[in-house]
Amino acid sequence: MPFTIAIDGPAASGKGTIARAISRRFGFHHLDTGLLYRAVGAKGGDPILAAEGLSAEDLARSDLRTNEAGQAASRVAAIPEVRAALIEFQRRFAVLEPGAVLDGRDIGTVICPEAELKLYVIASDEVRAGRRATELGADPAETLAALRERDARDSARATAPLRPADDAVILDTTDMSITEAVSRAIVEVQTRRR
Ligand code: C5P
Repeated sequence: MPFTIAIDGPAASGKGTIARAISRRFGFHHLDTGLLYRAVGAKGGDPILAAEGLSAEDLARSDLRTNEAGQAASRVAAIPEVRAALIEFQRRFAVLEPGAVLDGRDIGTVICPEAELKLYVIASDEVRAGRRATELGADPAETLAALRERDARDSARATAPLRPADDAVILDTTDMSITEAVSRAIVEVQTRRR
């Protein structure tokens, strides 16, 4: 049986870093599901058709990490038909052997409600904005405003809003180093793999 790990949380909370580290540590596959929505937003045209025809090439674009791409992603992510078009790919990925780590907004609540481990990673708005601004070389105040706008849209949408699953483990990384956050997550995986 594959072992599925769902990691959700608001933008720049550290979930991607944790997901990458955990997947390396356990030899699991990793899917950054935000990239799917970023690629749909960046493609332009009809977002539903873009989601239905998403290709590996679309995901390999070099301009998907910017604040603008994040905003475009969160706008198309509110469209139920866009989300529906991406469900099957994510669910198939989630059951790859020997295990899979998926990070996003609705992995524990919608995509993999049966995941062996659900983590919900949070951090203060200021810390998240600081991390993202450093990563992108962007202005911290603008980045803070962009993150807040995106989180508000992601939390308020009717389909698959950003929220923790009832049985998610909440990991607040505000005052944690990457090493500490990853160690905590590893302990949660090990507890459930015994
Ligand atoms: O994680 P990332 O910041 O790359 O996600 C970009 C946007 O894609 C999010 O703000 C959100 O609107 C959307 N998203 C989503 N569901 C996911 C992953 C991302 O709605 N599972």
